[in-house]
Amino acid sequence: MAVKQYTLNGGRGAFCKIINYGGIVTELHVPDKNGKLDDVVLGFDDLAGYLGPQPYFGAICGRFANRIAKGKFTLDGKAYSLAINNGPNALHGGLKGFDKVVWRSTQGHSKNGETLKLEYTSADGEEGYPGKLKVTIFYTFTPLNDLCIDYLAATDKATPVNLTNHSYFNLAGAGSGDVLSHELMLNAANYTPTDDTLIPTGEIKSVKGTPFDFTSPKAIGRDIEQLYAQPHRGYDHNFVLNNQNKEFAMIARVTEPNSGRVMEVMTNEPGVQLYTANFLGDTQGKAGKIYKQYGALCLETQHYPDSVNHPNFPSVILRPGEEYRTTTIYRFPK
Ligand code: BGC
Repeated sequence: MAVKQYTLNGGRGAFCKIINYGGIVTELHVPDKNGKLDDVVLGFDDLAGYLGPQPYFGAICGRFANRIAKGKFTLDGKAYSLAINNGPNALHGGLKGFDKVVWRSTQGHSKNGETLKLEYTSADGEEGYPGKLKVTIFYTFTPLNDLCIDYLAATDKATPVNLTNHSYFNLAGAGSGDVLSHELMLNAANYTPTDDTLIPTGEIKSVKGTPFDFTSPKAIGRDIEQLYAQPHRGYDHNFVLNNQNKEFAMIARVTEPNSGRVMEVMTNEPGVQLYTANFLGDTQGKAGKIYKQYGALCLETQHYPDSVNHPNFPSVILRPGEEYRTTTIYRFPK
């Protein structure tokens, strides 16, 4: 199947570009306080950049986004083994996850805005996961500049599913420096501490008095130094969102003081991974710009990492006859 690029138009001149390889958001141009457009996501000028090893810029991650400890889990009494691709663990769906496949793509319109429908059928046993999983992603860009992502899936055997988008945002413009002065508010009173391989210990811990307290707006850079040591090297943690009832709610607000750009995140997922591009080495991106460590932040809405091995975490198991359906909006108001 050929790789194609699509443009979805929002309001006030805003637009985004998405390719059907990995469902990658390659460009997202939104206005600043003066109406000036800038591209606020990291990426490459051409497809070749996305085909090489790359840190999931803009991509859909699945079948199971984030980590599974040692790539192992047991489901209904049967043990499964996945490829190890991140230290001792499995990360973001495996060697060829949903970020590296070509999706069937259909451009259209809904009552909410311009849409791109992406469909992919993951075979039974693909990357070691059980069950044939049919996945549909709808990207919608609305006149209010809501980039809305609907994730749907159905399976013919019980399987873990956790889908997210891994866009790297820099609201001052991709490649314009680090995000340490971006201010972040997260509606999360708790987070999931991890071991040295970034696998949750299972504990749900209060953010109070820790660098993880974003319950009031705080510059990303204010406390990040406390996390500079290995293994995290910055923020790379799952936050337990206050909203745990699967209802759609605002969970995060990011502001960039100079441009005045704001991004609000809404979801019905129970968690979000805040990742501040800690492992990003100097990378040549779009328009010859060099992206550096801390040059972006990801807010990956999701179920908690390694949920398959933690019965106290919200379940990630999808069974035949059930519908997986989550929605996340990245909103650029004003
Ligand atoms: C992970 C990081 C990882 C990155 C890959 C994030 O979701 O939490 O540890 O390095 O994805 O680019």
